[in-house]
Amino acid sequence: MTSEIQRLNVHLASAQPSATYRMMDRVAAKRATGAKVISLSAGEPDFDTPPHVCEAAIGAIRAGHTRYTQVAGLRALREAVAEKFNRENGLDVRWQDTIVCSGGKQVIYNALAATLNGGDEVIVPAPYWVSYPEMAQLCGATPVVVPCGADVGFKLTPDALSKAISPRTRWLILNSPSNPTGAVYQRDELAGLAEVLLAHPNVLVLSDDIYEHLTFDGAEFFTLAQVEPRLKDRTLTMNGVSKAYAMTGWRIGFGTGPAWLLEAMEKLQGQQTSGASSISQHAALAALQGPQDFIRESKEVFQARRNMMVELLDSTPGLSCTMPGGAFYAFASCEDLLGKTTPAGTLLRTDEDVALALLEEANVAVVHGSAFGLGPYIRFAYALDNDSLRQACEAIREFCLSLK
Ligand code: GLU
Repeated sequence: MTSEIQRLNVHLASAQPSATYRMMDRVAAKRATGAKVISLSAGEPDFDTPPHVCEAAIGAIRAGHTRYTQVAGLRALREAVAEKFNRENGLDVRWQDTIVCSGGKQVIYNALAATLNGGDEVIVPAPYWVSYPEMAQLCGATPVVVPCGADVGFKLTPDALSKAISPRTRWLILNSPSNPTGAVYQRDELAGLAEVLLAHPNVLVLSDDIYEHLTFDGAEFFTLAQVEPRLKDRTLTMNGVSKAYAMTGWRIGFGTGPAWLLEAMEKLQGQQTSGASSISQHAALAALQGPQDFIRESKEVFQARRNMMVELLDSTPGLSCTMPGGAFYAFASCEDLLGKTTPAGTLLRTDEDVALALLEEANVAVVHGSAFGLGPYIRFAYALDNDSLRQACEAIREFCLSLK
């Protein structure tokens, strides 16, 4: 029995821990025993942060930029963020229309925490990034999960959106390119969703654009507020330096949206973290203002890896994988593996069983699709060098062939 002193916040008590982090913790624990695990679990670029960005951070420390900044971020960084939204997304943004937070995650959490009350609903198309429904729940709201399967390219359709909206809908969360499927919304697909949204003036939209620069085969990236400017005054467009500049550990995310929302987020942040790390903010400024070659180069590398991974996974008996248009994830169905038994005697009932058995018996870490709201699938993050990816695919293939 839980004693009274251990009584948790009721929303936290019913939320799930982050499935991506749980797998990363399992990898760390297994590696600590000396096992050589290839991890396709964490969704973060394997490249080093560009040297000029690191130098800017070192310079910031030497120059004594080691104190609190303004809660919403350094003015210079907010100007660079506004310039980024204007230059790359065609949004008409001033520096006052931006906020800088400790990672993209905090932009999202701030926005939800600032606006949600009990009874509110948050529409989350599935497959979704693991944290969206949990964050909505932590803020006392109800996530409304809309299944978007392979038949619709893992994307929300106007019809499905229309059916999911209720008088209680407060937010719709969109994420393109998507984690975990890599699906990319085309301009006309966003326009179709926008048409539905225009008929529902009380719905806010969160556009999570963190994988913006990873769209493949020459596909152009579009964000909702750019496609439908009439939605700009109720859209929070969110991005960050983590994926674009290999800066996951620096924890800098940013967003632009209506003034009332940014003010509320700033108020919350001022009572919470006081703002993002001053040193990381100087690094992010260098990333946004410096040479942008890194973005093009990493996109080429990821596209080549995607081609290799999809071919290797799709030709693996028991797995079936479609070609994602962006991000650095392959999302493969593992339906044909269910009901089989591993050499160690484990019956694979669910995609989570498959993921755990791959870790235990093949030393490859992945995250199961059900954690993202759609099973039986496996998410493979291909943010690793080609040799490691080939080795991982070989181990996965052997594992699949060994099943009875
Ligand atoms: N976004 C990454 C992933 O999906 C990082 C981990 C997380 O925050 O969930 O793996």
